Amino acid sequence: MKIEGEWIEAEGVQQVLHLLTDAGHQGLLVGGCVRNALLHQPVADIDIATDAVPERVIALAKAAGLKVVPTGIEHGTVTIVVFGEPHEVTTFRRDVETHGRHATVAFSTRVEEDAARRDFTMNALYADAGGQVVDPLGGLPDLEARRVRFVGDACARIREDYLRILRFFRFHAWYGDPDAGMDAEALAACADNSAGTETLSRERIGHEMRRLLAAQDPAPSVAAMRATGVLGHVLPGADPRALAPLVHLEPPYAPDWLRRLAALGGPDPTDSLRLSRDEARKLAVLADGVGSMSGAGELAYRHGAELGRDILLLRAAVLEMPMPADWESAIARGAVAEFPLKAADLMPGLSGAELGARLKDLEARWVGSGFELSREQLLS
Ligand code: ATP
Ligand code: MG
Repeated sequence: MKIEGEWIEAEGVQQVLHLLTDAGHQGLLVGGCVRNALLHQPVADIDIATDAVPERVIALAKAAGLKVVPTGIEHGTVTIVVFGEPHEVTTFRRDVETHGRHATVAFSTRVEEDAARRDFTMNALYADAGGQVVDPLGGLPDLEARRVRFVGDACARIREDYLRILRFFRFHAWYGDPDAGMDAEALAACADNSAGTETLSRERIGHEMRRLLAAQDPAPSVAAMRATGVLGHVLPGADPRALAPLVHLEPPYAPDWLRRLAALGGPDPTDSLRLSRDEARKLAVLADGVGSMSGAGELAYRHGAELGRDILLLRAAVLEMPMPADWESAIARGAVAEFPLKAADLMPGLSGAELGARLKDLEARWVGSGFELSREQLLS
């Protein structure tokens, strides 16, 4: 089995791999890049693994005149810069002791040991500089079947790091076969250990939930999270029922994790997922909009075309109704509408709170007229 792609041919990648192999070491691509190349999906970050210890990697890079940065040397990672591009090289590791994220690791010279501490068999695939796939754990058949399966005993692996529960649902959403159902052993282990997710940091949970909800169709995974009790621990009060209808209504608009998050309802997740201020503000607009009576034009006028459209999509999903017939033209009109009055137009007759209230009232009338009432009509 071989992988190909421009990214593998890239001079920087080749140079780093050969730097290692020419010195008699193993130099292998690993993880997401190999998995995605095999699935013919876009490759984001490229990870390189080697049996050479970090000091050796640094010495080899320096001898070749390359810049090296010890970006995570205590976990065995150094970054080699080639043509201005960073390349992360991590020494094979094996777990000595695991306690959540802070596993005590030792360097290893065996790729089998490095593979054994990875989470899923489809994430434990390697490839050499020529694209030849190295599969120490027999993960290829799982990948071909698009089956997300834990490396080793699912329960034990989850207890080492409860984030793997969320990663299981995330990788299923992205790479699993939606028609095949999820691995039964894994689901049972997720259910048995669901409460363990409460020990995770909110940053880690937020990161995984974002990525899960950004999948093409996260609905089956989120439904399984609900069924296993995981959702109740991560987002108490969330209800996934509107998610599948939303995903169905979304095309041609791109998946948007925040819109999907809004579809789950429940208490404000700003804190539990560590949302940024901007994300929290958008989510609040979406949540308020779904429950409001405002029409498409008003939504677009007040929140812009995109948020307005997202509110309509969410409403339609929650009510399991099609989108209103004329929504696109209404959104387009509302998004560019400009209220023809300014405070100065009502002065000096009115001032202070009275002025504000009158202006708001006139704006509501103008919105109600479909943005038709002119300045003169509003003032008369
Ligand atoms: P993506 O394309 O979404 O980034 P990825 O496979 O690169 O997918 P990362 O989260 O970047 O995912 O992790 C890189 C690799 O490190 C994984 O493929 C996996 O082998 C390993 N890994 C990451 N997190 C864990 C974890 N919590 N437990 C075990 N292995 C992990
Ligand atoms: Mg990655």
